[in-house]
This record gives sequence, C-alpha cells and structure tokens, in this order.
Amino acid sequence: AERKIRSLAHFDSLTGLPNRVLFDRQLAFALDNARRHQEPVAILILDVDHFKRINDTLGHTAGDQLLRAFAERLKRNVRSTDGLTRGEPSESGGTVARLGGDEYILLLTDIRRDADASKVALRILESLKEPFRLDSQEVFATASIGISLFPTDGEDAETLLKNADVAVNHAKSSGRNNHQFYNLSMNTSAFHRLSMETRLRRAVSQDEFLLRYQPVVDAETRRIVGVEALIRWRHPDLGLVLPLDFIPLAEETGLILPIGEWVLRTACAQGRLWHDAGFDRLRVAINLSAQQFQRRPPAAIRDAIVREGLDPSFVELEITESLLMGDAERMRKTLEEFKAMGARISIDDFGTGYSSLSYLKKYPIDVLKIDRSFVRDLVSAADDQAITIAIIRMARSLRKDVVAEGVETAEQRDFLLEEGCPVMQGFLFSKPVPAALFESR
Ligand code: C2E
Ligand code: MG
Ligand code: MG
Repeated sequence: AERKIRSLAHFDSLTGLPNRVLFDRQLAFALDNARRHQEPVAILILDVDHFKRINDTLGHTAGDQLLRAFAERLKRNVRSTDGLTRGEPSESGGTVARLGGDEYILLLTDIRRDADASKVALRILESLKEPFRLDSQEVFATASIGISLFPTDGEDAETLLKNADVAVNHAKSSGRNNHQFYNLSMNTSAFHRLSMETRLRRAVSQDEFLLRYQPVVDAETRRIVGVEALIRWRHPDLGLVLPLDFIPLAEETGLILPIGEWVLRTACAQGRLWHDAGFDRLRVAINLSAQQFQRRPPAAIRDAIVREGLDPSFVELEITESLLMGDAERMRKTLEEFKAMGARISIDDFGTGYSSLSYLKKYPIDVLKIDRSFVRDLVSAADDQAITIAIIRMARSLRKDVVAEGVETAEQRDFLLEEGCPVMQGFLFSKPVPAALFESR
C-alpha cells in the first residue's frame, strides 16, 4: 500500500510518466551532478498544439488517449538514462515527465552542445508527422517546444523552468510546430551548425569535395618544386566552400577522418599522374589535421600513399605547431615512423601556434612554413621583418628547409630572396588552381 501511495504521489496516473513532484527531484539531482562535473543540461518544455480543440471536438476520452500516445512517442524519442536504452550511444540521455494538462517536460543530460538539444527537438517534431491512431479515428498533433540550457540560461531549477516556458511561448507565437531556445541567438547558431553538420555528412557520401593545387616555387630558379593540395567543398546550394568554413566542424564531428582519407588518396593519385607525365621531382604537400595525425597510424597513411603509386619520399605532411604539444614520446615515435617511410614533415603556419622552439630539436622536422601573417606586411613592418629573418636564419642553422607562404608582391619576393628564402608560395606565382591548370603553369 505504501508503494502504491508513493507511486500515486510521484507518477501521473494518466500517462504513467513521472509527475511534477518527481521531476523536480530528478531535476535537482541532475543539476547537482551537472554543477559537480561542469556539464550542460537542457530542459525542453513541450506543449501540444491546439490540444483544447482536439479535446473539445473529439471528447475527453479521445483527448486522454492522445495524451497517453503522445507520452509514448516522447519516450521513444529519448534515450532514458535509467537503463531502458534505445538508439545510438551518442544520443542524449533524458527523462520525460508530464507537467499537467497538455504540457510535458524533458530533461536532457549527457548533451555535449546546444545543437544536441536541437537534435532531440527536431527528432520529436519529425516523429509527430505520423498520425496518432485513437479508437475512433486518426489525428495529427504537433508540438511547440521551448528549450533552456544550464548553465547559460539559468543556474537553478526555477529559473531554467521559467525560461523554458518563455521559450515555449516564443515557439507558439512563431507559428507552433517548432522549437525555440530561450537564448534567441542559439536558435540560429545551433540550427546553423546542425544543418551544416547534416550537409557535411552528405558531402562525404556524395563526393562533393575537390582539390585545388597551389605551386610551391623556387623564386631563384623560377621552377616549381612542389605543390600543396588544398581542399574545397562544392555544395549544390552554398557553392564553393573554403576549408576554414568547414574543417573545424569536420574536426569536431570526426568527419575529418573520411575527408582526410579522401584528400590523401586524391592528392597522391594526382601526384602519381604528374610524376608519370614527367614532373618526376614534384613534391606533394598535404595538410593533416590533428585528429588524422593522432588517430591514423603512420602505417595506414603510408599504405594509402603507396596504394596510389606515389613514392612517400615525395610526400610532405603539413602539421601545425599545436599538434606537437601533446605526448612528446608518442609524437616523436610517430614522426620517426613517417621519416622511416621517407615522407617529409613540415610545420604549417610556423610562428603562430605555441612555438616552443625545443620541439625543433626534439622532433625530426624537415620544413618550416613561415605563416602568411608575417609575410603580409613584410615590406613595411619592422617586427614582421625581424621575425621572418629570424625564422629563416634559424631554419638554415638547424638545416631545415623554409617556405614562405602568402607571397603576393614582387617586393615581398625580393625581400625573401635577399634574406635567403627562395622557396615560396603565394598569389604572386599562382592561386590554388585545378589540376589541369596547374600543368599549364
Ligand atoms: P594553409 O595550409 O596554410 O594553406 C594556405 C592557405 O593560404 C590557402 O588557403 C591558400 O589558398 C592561401 N594562400 C596561398 N597563397 C596566398 C596568398 O598569396 N595570399 C593569400 N591571401 N592567401 C594565400 P585555403 O585553401 O583557404 O586553406 C586554408 C587552410 O585550410 C589551410 O591553410 C589548411 O590549414 C586548411 N586546409 C586546406 N586543405 C586542407 C585539407 O585537405 N585538410 C586539412 N586538414 N586542412 C586543410
Ligand atoms: Mg598547408
Ligand atoms: Mg599555412
């Protein structure tokens, strides 16, 4: 009897979901946890659109049936954290409760970013496109969803609930059947992210990427000594998207692995074609992202290069300084393996990261690429001159090659030549171009 009473006090008798009393406890518990572990929590309040109309026209029995079916559908869309799991492990965990009337509430823990809350909201709205089969007939019901996030939109339960409520009202006044964040700026950013992520995933499967090639020139002999492969994304609506607009997202979502794989294969295959065509000393520089570098064993990268028929000693792997800050021993081993296969390692954007110069001594690095930002004002800014000269001198005495990036003017070129850095890359010589155009240079 005691159990029965407790269950009556904590669960909603119509839907069997936790009621407000239990939910408040769960929320307090989740917030305690979130504070301790500094994790975000999302609260979604859902309001069934035009429920009163359904209730009035079809009767209370049908109304009750709908509320029960609605609860079931919500549960199906949220992976519960209490072990009744469903769906992919990456999905957010959560709790569904009924606030009363036609209002439900969802507590999401386990989210990594605001877009995850968006994702759940969109999934729920999507699931509502299926009609509800009640005894007497089929009805459609949509919902308005308001979202507040801990800690951005409130530090305590009361504020978060109040703000989620404000967001629901906003969703209703925005035409219902949609979700809104309390923090309005998140509506666009989370949604933008989410749709970019979806597009990027599709791009991987639909092969929407292409490579441009920028020559690396020896300005003294005026010969092309190498080429850097630079990725582009051709999106059917967005047009040509530049790497800085999608590589960060690709890195965050792990999509960089298949993308990087594709770049490696494509650039090496192209390199092989050029070698066959007689440009047999041409070096192919490929940018590796941190994840690729850390998660793909060097042997796998070598296999990919060799499979395309290119000798690894013509491949230059470009990494950034920040990558070298990790586990030193592991880094050294990885780099040694690349050396052993004959590939060259270059430090891209040199001088802009955490330049701990000791790594130049510790690791087998072949090339320093002077970042474009130093080259830009080379002719006018004394400090950029000083840094550039220092990098060139240092590279020379450490017996490393040095390449200047972003050379746009003859003055910059002459300055670099004067200071002993003949190898350059930049619009003065050529923009990144399609493979066919590269051949004509
Ligand atoms: P990065 O490796 O430093 O590449 C050089 C960037 O400078 C390229 O931009 C190139 O178009 C641009 N550039 C070259 N010469 C000049 C010049 O004279 N003036 C100016 N203003 N810019 C010049 P892009 O192609 O937009 O690439 C940006 C960055 O995206 C690259 O910087 C690289 O870090 C990354 N990236 C490009 N392709 C890949 C890729 O396949 N994988 C990965 N992980 N990252 C890539
Ligand atoms: Mg590069
Ligand atoms: Mg660079």
